[in-house]
Amino acid sequence: MATSKLWGNELEFRRTVLRVVLLVIIVAGVTFTINNWVVGHKILAIVELLVVILSFIILAIHRKTPNLTLWSSVFLCALYTVILFGIFSVSFTSALYSWLFIVPVLSYLLLGTKLGSLYSVFYVSLGCGILTYRHIMQHSDIPTIAIINIGLTLIAIWALSYTYEQKRAAMVKRLQEMASLDPLTGLNNRLLLSSIFDMLCLSLPEQQKSVSMILVDLDHFKKVNDEFGHSVGDAVLIEVSRIINSMRRRNDWAFRFGGEEFCLLIPDVTPSQANSIAERLRYAVQHTLNAEGFTANLTASLGIAHWPDNGKELSEIYKVADERLYQAKEQGRNQIIAE
Ligand code: GH3
Ligand code: MG
Ligand code: MG
Repeated sequence: MATSKLWGNELEFRRTVLRVVLLVIIVAGVTFTINNWVVGHKILAIVELLVVILSFIILAIHRKTPNLTLWSSVFLCALYTVILFGIFSVSFTSALYSWLFIVPVLSYLLLGTKLGSLYSVFYVSLGCGILTYRHIMQHSDIPTIAIINIGLTLIAIWALSYTYEQKRAAMVKRLQEMASLDPLTGLNNRLLLSSIFDMLCLSLPEQQKSVSMILVDLDHFKKVNDEFGHSVGDAVLIEVSRIINSMRRRNDWAFRFGGEEFCLLIPDVTPSQANSIAERLRYAVQHTLNAEGFTANLTASLGIAHWPDNGKELSEIYKVADERLYQAKEQGRNQIIAE
């Protein structure tokens, strides 16, 4: 399914970045642990070793975990704390401060713009604070221009990382919309149906699990095009979508299946509540539809099916709803068949 693949890819992107970062940090961490132990920075060596161990643990679970952002946050907290601790305790000449540059890059790539900004502001400010403190209080031999250069480079990397992540996320969102929305009506398209159906059925608490599917097909729509022209037909489809959208509750999902066929997925309603939603919709199409240039009457036929009563799989529910819709057409249109 194109859209769920796109969503998957977004997570896959962050997983891949996390994997690469973990591997780099494991290699760097082991090197620093040995070096700092040998030169006598034993506490720093121990905290570095702890970060290496944490990195191994996250590396082991990162492919499967549903809490990728949480684990990335934990990892970055640990990593940044060690970096700050290192800047605080090791001589300026070791250039450990250069690790500060990766803070905005990693924060944005792993956590996105909002949480990434929060992490960047917090840890970069702390890092700069520590550097300034050491410059003023301890190492007055550090040239001021060095501190300024570090600050400016940090700002440049920060701005670039933010811009990159913001544009990347916007592009992914746009691609997701293009893959999931019907361009004429703005409703979800058919490609999204199975992932939304799975999400609804898996996310509801066990005791109130029910999802109703209402299939809607406009009656004799071909005549609308023939009589009023294709663009009026389009306007009618947009108006029907508006009616459907206006009836939708926050947790309901509306789809256009192409042509003049629509679908509603309604979680957590009884069959009789689903029937009355369908009846209001049927009534609204017949009595309140008001599209420019369209002067005739339009009606719709509807078929309803329920999960899990009519089947466990989406294909089974759809088949039942479609058969009932067909029955509604057979019996004279402008009606709802619900059982
Ligand atoms: P029935 O009552 O049996 O459903 O008859 P119908 O005419 O509605 O059904 P049919 O499937 O024969 O025709 C559907 C028509 O919908 C055919 C096509 O011209 C029109 N249609 C499909 N997509 C669009 C669209 O995007 N815009 C417009 N204007 N018309 C469309
Ligand atoms: Mg039709
Ligand atoms: Mg049709």
